[in-house]
Amino acid sequence: MKNETIRVPLGQRAYEIHIGDGLLAEAGSLLAPVLRRPRIIIVTDENVLKAQGERLKSGLNARNISSEFIALAPGENAKSFAELERLTSRLLDLGVERDDTVAAFGGGVVGDLTGFACSMLRRGCGFVQIPTSLLAQVDSAVGGKTAINMPQGKNLIGAFYQPEIVIADVGALETLPIRELRAGYAEIVKYGLISNADFFEWLEDHGSALIGGDAKARIHAVKTSCAAKAAIVADDEREKGKRALLNLGHTFGHAFEAAFGYSDKLLHGEAVALGMTLAFDYSARLGRCRPEDAERVKRHLKTAGLPCAIRDLPQDLKAASILDYMMQDKKIEQGALTLVLAEKIGSAMIVKNADSADILEFLKEKTGA
Ligand code: NAD
Repeated sequence: MKNETIRVPLGQRAYEIHIGDGLLAEAGSLLAPVLRRPRIIIVTDENVLKAQGERLKSGLNARNISSEFIALAPGENAKSFAELERLTSRLLDLGVERDDTVAAFGGGVVGDLTGFACSMLRRGCGFVQIPTSLLAQVDSAVGGKTAINMPQGKNLIGAFYQPEIVIADVGALETLPIRELRAGYAEIVKYGLISNADFFEWLEDHGSALIGGDAKARIHAVKTSCAAKAAIVADDEREKGKRALLNLGHTFGHAFEAAFGYSDKLLHGEAVALGMTLAFDYSARLGRCRPEDAERVKRHLKTAGLPCAIRDLPQDLKAASILDYMMQDKKIEQGALTLVLAEKIGSAMIVKNADSADILEFLKEKTGA
């Protein structure tokens, strides 16, 4: 099967995203051009180490690249100051210098923590991404956002720090739990909804095969998603404008994630799926998009096994409390909500100063409370 390459054109910080089936076995050859020394430190989590660690190790051995693995406990809790301190201290103990390279080998949690650690370690050491969850392959490993969480909220402390290469092996997804796979799929759908109606249509035809394990469909979807993200990031690396479109479904979604304490009661991608449904419904309510489009989005997400109605949530929530959580979103500007809404499938827009009283009415209709 053909491997694909997408370039993220960021001048001095430009890099390539390699997408294919079985790339872990080729990791040594792919990494060799960016390594300044024939060694690499791999930060991962215990699940990924167990499921995919050997494949990566042998890919590195094949090119005589020595490797040390650091495995974190899986889960969002790793994105904390305590873990950041532990990780940076461990990297220093291993003698990591600025010319050394550290790889994030795992999902978005490992990627966000490791990237942030690398941005600080000796004021910036080598950093590469080897994403193993679908969400990380299509979203978090690309674009250079790194962060940890604070008691005040998610991703509040972080840095923009681009990797030097991204290696996305869809073969690694074979061991990813199906619920995590579906959650990552929501982010793929997002790219179709924001700017590519043809891709959304392709997903309607091939989404089930993709979720079911079709490697060719997975490569195509990861490639199309990464190309969309690369184009947006190249235009607006630091989210001063257009990059905010990637937040489609996120303001509604974050409210649900926060309401469930960012626990595995509701995964990020599941919250985004529900959030995108609401963003389309709300756009239809405002007369900005056709109700048929909103229905079509809902139908597709439902077929993919994702939550697309507030009643699908594991617990009842009141409209006022959802709005409260939305108002804590980090995209709030001087107390006013910014939403990403839709004109149609394949065309999203940023709407500032959204009317919170009207959103409350809308949420009341959706929750019945
Ligand atoms: P995650 O990193 O927690 O991974 C999900 C689960 O799957 C974990 O239990 C992990 O151990 C397991 N796993 C991953 N790959 C596996 C594999 N191949 N085989 C078996 N198990 C595997 O979650 P995620 O959904 O990948 O990432 C979520 C995080 O990403 C959140 O913290 C979110 O804030 C962040 N995020 C960041 C960005 C960004 O631009 N930086 C974008 C979106 C999300």
